[in-house]
Amino acid sequence: MNEFEIIRRYFARQPVVRDDVRCGIGDDAAVLAPAADHELVVSTDMMVAGVHFPEDTAPEHIGWKALAVNLSDMAAMGAEPAWFTLNISLPHLDPVWLDAWCSGLYALATEQRVQLIGGDTTRGPLTVGIQILGQLPCGTALMRRGARAGDRIFVSGTLGDAALGLAGRQRRLRLPAEFSEYLHARLERPTPRVAIGQALRGLATACIDVSDGLAADLGHILAASGTGARIELDRLPRSAAYRAVQARVGWDPAVSHGDDYELCFTVAPERVAELPARLRTIECPVTEIGVVEPAAGLRILDRAGLPYRPAHTGFDHFGAAETE
Ligand code: ADP
Ligand code: MG
Repeated sequence: MNEFEIIRRYFARQPVVRDDVRCGIGDDAAVLAPAADHELVVSTDMMVAGVHFPEDTAPEHIGWKALAVNLSDMAAMGAEPAWFTLNISLPHLDPVWLDAWCSGLYALATEQRVQLIGGDTTRGPLTVGIQILGQLPCGTALMRRGARAGDRIFVSGTLGDAALGLAGRQRRLRLPAEFSEYLHARLERPTPRVAIGQALRGLATACIDVSDGLAADLGHILAASGTGARIELDRLPRSAAYRAVQARVGWDPAVSHGDDYELCFTVAPERVAELPARLRTIECPVTEIGVVEPAAGLRILDRAGLPYRPAHTGFDHFGAAETE
């Protein structure tokens, strides 16, 4: 199989057909027709084997996650994801691997109705770079810079699951059988919170997706907004699986570890009451965890109301598998 046969067999046959794609794969460039009165939203994320995922990760999970992390950036902006390009570098041609990889990628592409519209294919170390394009009504993007003192801080879903899943995969932690599938799935098949992001347009004052850990990512909102915040450790949403496993290992990565791809966002206090109606049709819960304050810095309070410092000793040994 040469490069053109790979493109024809695996990429030109992508499953999503959108009316707004005038020309997709097969020409020198794609031609797109964004909706009237909308702005384009563009983001890209690269995943390198051995850096962003263990080399032996199942190919369907790599395919899924490569798109999921990009969709999560669209979610964080409140955008409707629509199109993506794919730059892939493959060490060798393995049809079984590629079939599985595509099945993961296309399962999520189909679910989110995003169409693969082009890319580039080369030989080299396993690397997947996806660029995603989305759109939203003019002026409605959710930025990091809009948080104001008094705003309430929320996160979607649960935090820390992916960190435990990774520890399990790396055999640094033995996961009980009843929780291991869930925790591994949270690491390898994250659910981008696209519907939540769109529901927050015109309501959230700032938004970010949690890819590097809540403390770091909320920190980006605070720095961009020129504010600080106080959050309560006990209010961070944690899954039943997380609670069961974390109780046994002693360390608590919910605040400091990423890869969960939840959304963290802020809402003005007088508008918090609007949230339930906005999120009515969305199954994923959101949880209030703290408040934006004028003084710079993130203050994390433990159960006793004392400052909490994440102990880095417990999770530094994730080392190379941590994502940028
Ligand atoms: P060119 O030489 O004009 O850059 P290529 O030969 O690289 O074009 O690619 C031919 C067509 O296949 C283009 O439409 C390109 O976007 C598409 N393509 C190549 N690789 C991929 C890929 N990995 N995923 C999706 N489309 C791809
Ligand atoms: Mg060309």
